[in-house]
Amino acid sequence: GIVQVVYPSVNSDFELARLGPGDFFGEMALLNDKPRSATVRAMTALEVLVLDKEDFRRVVSETPGLAFKLLAALSVRIRNADEQISNLSDQAVRDPLTGLLNRRAFQDRLSEEVNRARRYGSAFSLLIIDVDHFKSINDTLGHVAGDEVLAWVGRILLEHTRAADAPFRIGGEEFAVLCPAADSHMAGQAAQRLVAVVAEAKPPTDQVLKVTMSAGYASCPEHGTTFEDLYMVADNALLQAKVDGRNRVSHPPPPGEA
Ligand code: GH3
Ligand code: MG
Ligand code: MG
Repeated sequence: GIVQVVYPSVNSDFELARLGPGDFFGEMALLNDKPRSATVRAMTALEVLVLDKEDFRRVVSETPGLAFKLLAALSVRIRNADEQISNLSDQAVRDPLTGLLNRRAFQDRLSEEVNRARRYGSAFSLLIIDVDHFKSINDTLGHVAGDEVLAWVGRILLEHTRAADAPFRIGGEEFAVLCPAADSHMAGQAAQRLVAVVAEAKPPTDQVLKVTMSAGYASCPEHGTTFEDLYMVADNALLQAKVDGRNRVSHPPPPGEA
């Protein structure tokens, strides 16, 4: 017959596997003397051969072929469980529209960079980028075209940054890039390059459309050494770029003049 191996959770049971004739289950609890971690439910009428712990251990130690099959099956199960766990944690940190890391991942990574800079004295920079007049893109071309523009901006951020740089979508039409080992000069150049690429490239929309972005940045330790200070300096520079007319990068004030 067929059984379902489920992991009971609050909302609904999560199916880990479905097993059929010749398969086995319950071996984990027998091997490690721990309580069962999942529940097995019969989906059809079935016949089961039940071994108690003594019988199980004797059969396994006396039958190398069976022990090998058991190991092979366990390795497949562990690998599947690993994949499921990494998919779940990936979904928690990735933005589905652009495929970029999300705001939550950004907050974690920025905290990590701040801690690393504090411990090792390493430099890094943070860019914050916002699409200009994005509301009017939605209003004139519709939300679907707006989404396409955002996905396109995401691809440009991936393609036009160094491999070590990490782009994020931190809000609706707001992006960030963490640039490890980049000082303020390099950060300014990186921000300028991204703004220029978007202004010159053609977005994948049916209608002709000009998309521009504004950016600000901050560098550690030059403009601050805490999460809050760096974010504030970069965000204020971004606001200044908007005030100054958009489609540009605004440089943060030199330390002491902030
Ligand atoms: P500014 O140049 O000052 O940044 O103007 P703006 O229009 O870009 O800024 P505003 O904050 O007024 O509008 C942002 C718009 O982005 C409003 C919101 O509906 C839209 N938006 C947010 N998330 C998404 C999304 O996932 N898809 C689409 N299509 N639109 C989004
Ligand atoms: Mg905007
Ligand atoms: Mg915005």
